[in-house]
Amino acid sequence: MPESAEEVWARIVGAKRLAFDGQCPECARVVPERIVWEDEYWILSYTDGPADMAAALLLQTRDHTRVGQLDDELASQFGRISNRLVRIIENLPEAAYVDVSRYGAHRGHFHVWYFAPHADGVTTPADLRTIATKLANWGGDARA
Ligand SMILES: [Zn+2]
Repeated sequence: MPESAEEVWARIVGAKRLAFDGQCPECARVVPERIVWEDEYWILSYTDGPADMAAALLLQTRDHTRVGQLDDELASQFGRISNRLVRIIENLPEAAYVDVSRYGAHRGHFHVWYFAPHADGVTTPADLRTIATKLANWGGDARA
């Protein structure tokens, strides 16, 4: 059963964020151990989302830039990566679907959330290695 917009919002806002020290959170909080996939321009990492999530992932630019300020090449890359990522996750048995969300725009750094609630009857997390490996079929490096 699809979640209401309020439930999705609460899930996004309630997702745990690592502490940072006065810096751009996305620049400051890239923890190598949390990187699922990366290439020259993008970093996909996982977060400690709500327990009922199959996956809570964050795609961000490697360099500090803003939504609306990507050049055409970077914007095109974002569209392709995002489309592939949603397709990969939604084909996993653990995930019901993927919500894609921009949240925290006031901080500036280009970052987009991918939240995948569990499929009915499933409580195990999505296999990050599978996500990383499939995404790397188009380039970049699987890290999970
Ligand atoms: Zn930044």
